[in-house]
Amino acid sequence: MKVKDYKQELVARIMTLKERKKAAILAHNYQIPGIQDIADVLGDSLGLAKISKTLSSSHIVFCGVKFMAETVKILSPHKRVFLPVVDAGCPLADMIQAEELIELKRNHPEAWVVTYVNTSAEVKSLSDVCCTSANAINVVKNIPVKKVIFIPDKNLGWWVAKNVPHKELVIWNGFCYVHEQFTLNDLRQAKKVYPDAEALVHPECRREILEEVDYVLSTSGMLKRAKASSAQRFIIGTEEGLLYRLKNENPQKEFYSLGNARMCINMKKTGLDELYSCLEKEAYEVELQEQIIEKARVALERMVEYV
Ligand code: SF4
Repeated sequence: MKVKDYKQELVARIMTLKERKKAAILAHNYQIPGIQDIADVLGDSLGLAKISKTLSSSHIVFCGVKFMAETVKILSPHKRVFLPVVDAGCPLADMIQAEELIELKRNHPEAWVVTYVNTSAEVKSLSDVCCTSANAINVVKNIPVKKVIFIPDKNLGWWVAKNVPHKELVIWNGFCYVHEQFTLNDLRQAKKVYPDAEALVHPECRREILEEVDYVLSTSGMLKRAKASSAQRFIIGTEEGLLYRLKNENPQKEFYSLGNARMCINMKKTGLDELYSCLEKEAYEVELQEQIIEKARVALERMVEYV
């Protein structure tokens, strides 16, 4: 069988199984094109978790990484949530463990813990409030304390500290290995090649890039900016999967990766075969203790109060 025929047949089988199980397929913006094309909803981690609450389906297949599927489960605890690849984790989220956060809180008892969504459910459950890359500045600005423990991304933490100078931040030393690979030289070279282009980068990029770039934006922010801007060309500093969606949604515009395209291995672990198997075998289901769900949900919901 030709690869194209195999793929078409597999997509048809996925759709049949999805209908039979009344499942919804959610996919993160960094997923491979084949998954993006088949998803019911595409988005960033928190956007997808919020949308999952409104879906009539109680069977959610989340194509992304573990902390994202956990966030869906936290906000929709009565739904069954599945992650097609059990070891699709996030190295950034793994850079802080619950015990380390407990120690940090002990050392700074007057501080509030502001936790980026890229963390485990357990770490969220020990936090005062969560944030996303889009709202981190506002959350830190608006919470009623001066001292803040910001975890786990040091570049996002630095960006927040720069924009909220009247707060005192204790920043954890985590980073996303994908965004860390972009360099200032990449930005300068790209600007030389495409001088008319707007450069949009994610705040997980290195701080020297954040200082020099045109716009620091979340993935959703990049999607909005690309549509609204009158620029025809864009230099994009984030995981390469987003370029597929940017090109699809703006076919008349041009998008270039900042330097070499950078790929998140864990985001690319989910293919159509894994998605089919997940639907067929109902594996791997996300299971969290009720107590963790309850506490993590409070931290996530509190975020809305401070944006
Ligand atoms: S791109 Fe970075 S932050 Fe996102 S899942 Fe991959 S390692 Fe984690």
